[in-house]
Amino acid sequence: MTPVEALERVVHCLDRAHDTGYKAKAFIRALDVARALPPTELAERADAGTLTQLDGIGDSSAKVIQQALAGGDVAYLSELEAKTQVPITPAGEVYRQALLGDLHMHSRWSDGGATIEAMARTAVALGHEYMVLTDHSPRLTVAHGLSEERLHQQVSDVATLNGQLAPFRILTGIEVDILEDGTLDHGDAVLSELDVVVASVHSKLRMAGKEMTERMVRAVANPHVDILGHCTGRMIGKRDPSSFDPDYVFAACAQFHTAVEINCRPERLDPPRPLLQLAIDYGCYFAINSDAQATGQLEWQPHGCNRAAEVGVPLDRVINAWPADQLLAWTAGAA
Ligand SMILES: [Zn+2]
Repeated sequence: MTPVEALERVVHCLDRAHDTGYKAKAFIRALDVARALPPTELAERADAGTLTQLDGIGDSSAKVIQQALAGGDVAYLSELEAKTQVPITPAGEVYRQALLGDLHMHSRWSDGGATIEAMARTAVALGHEYMVLTDHSPRLTVAHGLSEERLHQQVSDVATLNGQLAPFRILTGIEVDILEDGTLDHGDAVLSELDVVVASVHSKLRMAGKEMTERMVRAVANPHVDILGHCTGRMIGKRDPSSFDPDYVFAACAQFHTAVEINCRPERLDPPRPLLQLAIDYGCYFAINSDAQATGQLEWQPHGCNRAAEVGVPLDRVINAWPADQLLAWTAGAA
């Protein structure tokens, strides 16, 4: 394991434990520094004991680099590997085992921290057959949403990567913003080129319930929309769920074949259990998605699997438990 690989794995483990504190930031910084240095200089400095003279390398990261170069056990990493496993229940494990892909994630193209390739290689390592890349749409400027031009560029980059990663498949997609009137932040022409479209509300989350219901139903009914992302918009302990009439929204999801996302981010876990139960009753389809912004967060699907098992989501209605071709036929409207 090279020093860069060891530091990458440390960052991955801290991410999957949702550690966003000082230590995680320090290791991300150390990783950037290590990546930018010629490997020979890193080795020379490790020998001379001068790693910590580099801005961004502290005692902990220097130790990881030294131990990686020595070729033996990297003590801090071994400790993290054991300590940061994402918990899963036996019933949740049945769902996790059934998942063949992940349909919502971000790369450096928008607000993610990893390259598309790093996300894809992690998805492969997690046993997935495919993933959908869903960076943000232009209106979300804080997240560097993708213009039509950048999206086309991304689609062509994905085609190149697919050539290298086969049989694994990166499917093209987007997390498109649902605008205030329920229209979407990209036109029909762009959306029809993509394999999978996740639509989410990211603005005006506090609008009146009646308007929010109309807004969401209009988006759900859009033939390009395949998945309704994190439907209530809640942030646990920080932001209440939006107000909308879930009967209308889930009835529309069932009618227009728009899957309800079970968002696995620990701060979201959206929808809450009672709404998830209601969506089951309406006959909705589901997608258990990490919404990852870093490689470690791709390991978050167990959070949603545990919840799906608890509430009794029918496994045959989980669209990312289907093979890619079945999923693509469904998103194309053939099912
Ligand atoms: Zn997202």
